Amino acid sequence: MPVMNNSETTNTCTIINVAVNRPLFRDFAYKVNCLIGDECIGSRVLINFAGLSQVGVITKINPTIDFDKAKLKEAKLLDKQGIIPKDVIDVLKFGSGYYQYPLGQCFNVALPKLLRDGAPFSYEQIPALKLEDNLDEKKVEKLKSQEQIEIIKVLRQGSARRKELRERGFSSTQENALIKKGLIKLFNESIETKKFYENTNEILKETPPEPNLEQKNAIYTISNCHEFNTFLLNGITGSGKTEVYLRVIENVLKEGKAVLILVPEIALTPQTFDRFYRRFNVPVSSMHSALSDRERLDAYIDMATSKSGILIGTRTALFTPIPNLGLIVIDEEHDSSFKQNDSFRYHARNLAIMRAKLNNCPIVLGSATPSLETIYNVQKGVYQRIDLTIRAGGASVPKFELIDLRNEPLTDGLKTGICQTLEDEIGEETAKGNQVLLFLNRRGYAHHLVCHQCGHVFVCPNCDNLLTVHKKANRLQCHVCENFYDIPKTCYVCGNDELVEQGFGTEQVSEFLEHRYPDIGVERIDRDSVTTKKQLETKLNRIRLGTSKIMLGTQMLAKGHDFPDVTLVGILDVDSSLFSDDFRSLENTAQLLTQVSGRSGRGKKQGKVVIQTHHPDNLLINQLIDPNCNYMTIAEGLLETRKSMMLPPYSSQAFILCNSQNRTKAFNFLSDVYRKLNNLKDDYPNLALTHVLSDKMEKVQNRYHFHILVTSINRKTLNLFLTNVRKLVSEESLPNDVRFAIEVDPITMY
Ligand code: ADP
Ligand code: ZN
Repeated sequence: MPVMNNSETTNTCTIINVAVNRPLFRDFAYKVNCLIGDECIGSRVLINFAGLSQVGVITKINPTIDFDKAKLKEAKLLDKQGIIPKDVIDVLKFGSGYYQYPLGQCFNVALPKLLRDGAPFSYEQIPALKLEDNLDEKKVEKLKSQEQIEIIKVLRQGSARRKELRERGFSSTQENALIKKGLIKLFNESIETKKFYENTNEILKETPPEPNLEQKNAIYTISNCHEFNTFLLNGITGSGKTEVYLRVIENVLKEGKAVLILVPEIALTPQTFDRFYRRFNVPVSSMHSALSDRERLDAYIDMATSKSGILIGTRTALFTPIPNLGLIVIDEEHDSSFKQNDSFRYHARNLAIMRAKLNNCPIVLGSATPSLETIYNVQKGVYQRIDLTIRAGGASVPKFELIDLRNEPLTDGLKTGICQTLEDEIGEETAKGNQVLLFLNRRGYAHHLVCHQCGHVFVCPNCDNLLTVHKKANRLQCHVCENFYDIPKTCYVCGNDELVEQGFGTEQVSEFLEHRYPDIGVERIDRDSVTTKKQLETKLNRIRLGTSKIMLGTQMLAKGHDFPDVTLVGILDVDSSLFSDDFRSLENTAQLLTQVSGRSGRGKKQGKVVIQTHHPDNLLINQLIDPNCNYMTIAEGLLETRKSMMLPPYSSQAFILCNSQNRTKAFNFLSDVYRKLNNLKDDYPNLALTHVLSDKMEKVQNRYHFHILVTSINRKTLNLFLTNVRKLVSEESLPNDVRFAIEVDPITMY
């Protein structure tokens, strides 16, 4: 046996590798003053790094003892065992390599803020509500507020966290009123150690509707899959996809396994939450941007300890520990919010599929308008497609109608976005007591302001972007940096006072509608008129109750909401999206219009979708209105075009991005990178680089943006090349104030 001179360190310490939150593609060796094993992989440690105390994550336990331990800095162990499980670490390792982002920084994105900051992995107090022990039923009968009656109904099924009630759309004012009346009481939820599958209760709280034949087929196919497989649940809006998820989830829960459901932020409405909370007796957790840091951590612990069996969340919920994961669902898989656009630029669909693979469980991608990438994978036989072609609950599919704006009189309405024919139809439908949804993806009053004399247009001083006129707020606003300015009285350039507003936005259209139909009730739904969840609920409630008959909105309205009495959907401006230089624009337009159209006729009444255009011959528009053509046909056509041009998904792309406050500095830096890459390039067959180009919007918030686009038909080649790009740049160490990033599989063009 070798003689150890420093017996203390040899016997009681362990050497670990730590990933740190720094832009560095390596981990660092530290020691902890105790003996630990692999159970601590994924534990956090407090380390001193470059003079700063910070939290890192253990990625490896080194069994070797022939290391000069005395020289290593000491780390303080924060968790007795890993709080990031192996499958999540492996997903992040994969993501780090695929998206060229340092693992330590990936951990930083994956962890809830409190854990990132070193807080203990434990609950504090969780405020919850329950019925009073001896509920005074007489008092309950006398309740007048519908909301209070509903709250009592929910609590009859068991206690609920305040967070749950908030998510289901109940207001704390009503809860407090009930507390005051002595009907319900506030308590701190006891931190049970019971796991969701140890509960002997029935899994269901309510009796679900009987699935139709298509739904049965989908439920059967997915539920019978007990290994990794990617399903595309391709169902038209209202076909009952969510109902299929709920049934499949029920089956997974019965096996004692847990479920992860990813949804776009915009779809997290009280109705969505309510469907899950109402259906299952199993605790449901959620994770999204409307939570406090504490609530996020609670949800993280709920899932990690199997207290909850269901997690509904947005993008980052993907990194939550879920032991015994039995199913992943990605609802609205085509939605762009699954892609993160800064720091760790991952696509949640991509990494979720990897996570399902690691857990050998099925994953369901649901959409009425699947992404071309997904359809391509179906065509290749990598994903399995299941169709839902009829609307559940007997609703019918809407009819389409085109209005050729060239034949319309130039009325005041047309100047504000609504032609005479549509104006008449709105009148007819609302007179019948039906509701109308108008879609315009442009907020503000007028798109921009121009001087009638000299033609000067008013541009944001910080960005290459036209300023939008907001009448009510009485200002010009930049929709990129959100800065605002006074509306000028005269032109800065020539002094003329004739300034013309050009292009209409939702604010102007709603002004016209309110003037034209003063008694009908118009709800404008966009980011200016709706700033809180509460406001949105109030507006939606007026629509549900029928006190308002017209709603006018941006894409805030396009998904997630059910309006059974809407019989007319009007698409006000399709033309501006038809001629974009982004090759994804037609795909996005087809998706958006199909989704909006799906809002019509969700109830028993026949719905109609009216599209106004100056380009009635446009191919996409004609496909949209053709009853023999559906989204899938359009998408397959678009894929053919992509193929002939070798665009994604037939090739792989990445952007090399760079920006600085100093234009020359950014340009020169990236040009220098370009020269080096161009020399490297010959080692990589089938790889193409563009020159250094300005972004479409070069100046954003006073920073100048440039890029190089890299394309390859081979993903591996692209990845190897990008690894070299990354090495090359990190070696050079960035000049002061130059920001650099690599974006793999971009979904928008720069
Ligand atoms: P999607 O997610 O495809 O938009 P949903 O699951 O939300 O569709 O279903 C649309 C509506 O039809 C919902 O109100 C839902 O409760 C109802 N629904 C779904 N499946 C059935 C069914 N089998 N029988 C009756 N109603 C159903
Ligand atoms: Zn700006």
